[in-house]
Amino acid sequence: MGAKKVKTVYEKLGVDSIGSLEYACKENRLRDLPGFGQKTQDNLLKSIQLKKKYDEQYHYPPAKRIAEQVLEYLHKAPGIIDLEIAGSLRRKKEIIHDIDIVGSAKKQDQQTIMDYFVNYPDNKQSLAHGKTKTTIVMKHGIHCDLRLVETDQFPFLLHHSTGSKEHNTAMRQLAKDKNCRMNEYGIFKGNNDKSEKCADEHEIYSFFSLQYIPPELRENMGEIEAAGRHELPNLVQENQIKGVFHAHSVWSDGSNSIRELAEKCRSLGFEYLGITDHSKSAFYANGLDEERIKKQHEEIEKLNEEFTDFTIFIGIESDILTSGKLDYDDDVLESFDFVIASVHSAFNLSQKEMTKRICSALKHPCTTMLGHPSGRLLLGREAYQVDMEAIIECAVQNNVIIEINANPHRLDMDWHWGRLAEKHQLITSINPDAHSIDGIEDFRYGVGIARKGWFTADRVLNTRSCDAVTSFFKLK
Ligand SMILES: [Zn+2]
Ligand SMILES: [Zn+2]
Repeated sequence: MGAKKVKTVYEKLGVDSIGSLEYACKENRLRDLPGFGQKTQDNLLKSIQLKKKYDEQYHYPPAKRIAEQVLEYLHKAPGIIDLEIAGSLRRKKEIIHDIDIVGSAKKQDQQTIMDYFVNYPDNKQSLAHGKTKTTIVMKHGIHCDLRLVETDQFPFLLHHSTGSKEHNTAMRQLAKDKNCRMNEYGIFKGNNDKSEKCADEHEIYSFFSLQYIPPELRENMGEIEAAGRHELPNLVQENQIKGVFHAHSVWSDGSNSIRELAEKCRSLGFEYLGITDHSKSAFYANGLDEERIKKQHEEIEKLNEEFTDFTIFIGIESDILTSGKLDYDDDVLESFDFVIASVHSAFNLSQKEMTKRICSALKHPCTTMLGHPSGRLLLGREAYQVDMEAIIECAVQNNVIIEINANPHRLDMDWHWGRLAEKHQLITSINPDAHSIDGIEDFRYGVGIARKGWFTADRVLNTRSCDAVTSFFKLK
């Protein structure tokens, strides 16, 4: 709400908090106020509900940072033996509710370690303070659990606390089928109260004749069955990334020059960078008109002459207009090495209209990739309505890549589509959507999501060499 609306609800209805605003909306008191109406009231109520839903949830990077600081602190705890981050952070989830840390120590040291933990400088409040389980609330609001067991139990605790709940339930069922019980303390045959010995998680999975399942896959999306058939995919790894696409420079809304972005990529050992500033309809982001495109291409060509061991691919992030058309005439589109087509406006179309709009952009022969396919902003904006299954099929048919936008606020394509993408042999590209040199490093979050989505290196474009990428674009 703008200042004027805030003044109205305060003066006319006495609304002075989000709680009282929500109540007023539910009582239909805003509907008849001057400058409001049913639609405004509905939208406000929807926003309040979203805010509630997003409370006490965190993006991956800040949660990871806090967890690593706690881990560093706990490594100095007297008597600590094993120590790991577990939970959704270990599974590389896009949104984190709380931090789970697990450790091991001799029984006589556990209380001292827990006392040391509650003395963590950023601890605002201890919610539970036991010998084996302690929960503290960080000054940022996020909860952090520490659980301790003895060393021989540690692999079981690590596995249990990594989750997901669904994966654990399925694993416990496997145990039952073998006439065993399984929990955070061990695997127990029959009525035995002494656990089977497993030195690490590998041995836990071996006990069930399963391949080791990487934490990212533990979502009960078929990973246990695949591990039983010894058919788990060889997931893409960070060190296989050879370059990145999707970066904005000062030519549109980025904060670094093309040269600076290229130097950053070179410092990471990359072979190439694909520059994609905004297209002309994105006027709010200083999108490029045809004149400026020519000038930008000249700048990139000069840089490419200068670099002997590095290539800058000339790209564009073209808006997909409401009609489904791209943002330039074909002769301009043909002047790029590659084109990312993205929706940046008119998010409110029906699912049918939005799907049709995106599919017609995918069918354009110049479209190389689809950018952030759902348009969601994690903890900020819901995805627009789109039939992702139809989009994936259309992309594969037209030899178009669907990116995994690695910006931690997007992480879009969502990893839940991974199995379907695998079925259709969809190719992705892990794109940082960088708006600064630091943003380039976000590609790492995208690797986590690609792994969650069962992607192998051969289905990730930017694991390919510069020559292979060049031929891919030429073929397209
Ligand atoms: Zn975009
Ligand atoms: Zn972008």
